[in-house]
Amino acid sequence: MGVADSGVQPRVGHEALLDAEGLWTDILDYVRPRVSREGFETWLAPTRGLALSGSVLEVEVPNSFFADWLSQHYSAEVRAALTNVSQQEVSVSFRPRDASDTGVLIRRAPARRPVAKQNGYRLQSHLSFENFVVGESNRLAVAAARSVAERPGANYNPLFIYGGVGLGKTHLAQAIGNLAVAAKPGLKVYYTAADDLFLELIQAIEKNTRLEFKNRYRCLDLLLLDDIHYLVGKERLQEEVFYIFNSLHDAGSQIVFTSDRPPQDIPALESRLASRLGSGLVVDIQAPELETRIAILKQKATMDRAELPDDVAYFIAARVRTSVRALEGSWIRLLALASLDGRPITVSLAEEALKNLIRQEEPVDHNRIIKACAEHFGVTLKDITNGGRTKQLALARQVAMFVLRATLSLSLKEIGGLFGNKDHTTVMHAIKRVGDLKTKDPAFAARLEKLSKGISRGEQR
Ligand code: ADP
Ligand code: MG
Repeated sequence: MGVADSGVQPRVGHEALLDAEGLWTDILDYVRPRVSREGFETWLAPTRGLALSGSVLEVEVPNSFFADWLSQHYSAEVRAALTNVSQQEVSVSFRPRDASDTGVLIRRAPARRPVAKQNGYRLQSHLSFENFVVGESNRLAVAAARSVAERPGANYNPLFIYGGVGLGKTHLAQAIGNLAVAAKPGLKVYYTAADDLFLELIQAIEKNTRLEFKNRYRCLDLLLLDDIHYLVGKERLQEEVFYIFNSLHDAGSQIVFTSDRPPQDIPALESRLASRLGSGLVVDIQAPELETRIAILKQKATMDRAELPDDVAYFIAARVRTSVRALEGSWIRLLALASLDGRPITVSLAEEALKNLIRQEEPVDHNRIIKACAEHFGVTLKDITNGGRTKQLALARQVAMFVLRATLSLSLKEIGGLFGNKDHTTVMHAIKRVGDLKTKDPAFAARLEKLSKGISRGEQR
């Protein structure tokens, strides 16, 4: 590594004489695996170590919006990196490329600060119920979560929340903790993810501190155990978790589990906790419907104090359907792009921002789905949408409803509206019937899959 080309002589005490660019590169290397890939590419990749003057590392960023964003969202990681990469007291200053911008300063964390703990409970205050948008897809889960937070141990114990990646499980678990502590300060709450628990357990075994480990958990009022599917195939961890669970449950303490699959798909858990799960509640979170996705985008925009026009919100929400995390990622990218070029947030800018992100999530419009289903069953579009009553038509219509729900997450009411204002119970019945057929009849399931695949291939033209 060479000497900084800024002309400022760096004063770095240890053997390697780091230049600003090298030091910042080291910091980025440390941060990269610890943040999302998208976040890194959007916010950190366009930065550059500029100069090391005294104990301040100046980092060039595209503009002051980046400086704000980086310090609001990445300061913990940058601080941790500073502590790890440099033994000197160094702080980072983000300098917008436009020199008239003032930039933002992040101080180096005090040495040996435990990084993982946001507070004693490991709760992050921004993951609250206030910031969680409620829709049809998560209404039940949110109601159960609130009730548990308000009266831990009293209602549903354990509460088991499951759902796909990026649908808000961690957010809800954290929200429960935050609300419970706010309602009853002093309540002993602890949040941990199953993989962290595993590390803790291994350390406890190595250091011979199993007893402390157990006691730490046994005295809790509320345990939030995230991503419990991690237990699959880990016998030792399972045993420990069951022990913790049983002693907490016997003491009337509340336990909340989250998982990416239902309990019956975690056989070890199911067999050992079956009787106890019975006294609790299992709720799922589905992918949000269009309206909820729009509401989530609007809420993120409000939190970022940015204007998000309706047509742009719709544009994104119609395309990014499967995960709230991806939805959030798209919004952040758009915001970054707007700030880079100082352009207003419009549909065409959104198109540009989402170009690479949504390759697999091209828009499917409902007409195309209905048309494909009609073709598949050899009936006309008109017949399928206007209440014709033959058996074949009824099945074609039910399948179309099912596929609309599965691919576009339209609400029952919206789907009903596409078929001559059918009642939502009719739609519900149709979706259930197709779901049942799919389970019972593998040939039908294969046909349905082929049809769905055809629809998603067709849309990528
Ligand atoms: P999971 O744990 O299910 O993978 P997360 O809880 O980490 O998902 O959620 C992913 C991101 O989406 C988080 O930033 C979270 O705040 C956000 N999010 C998820 N669901 C909602 C919602 N209903 N309203 C607002 N934000 C949400
Ligand atoms: Mg999670």
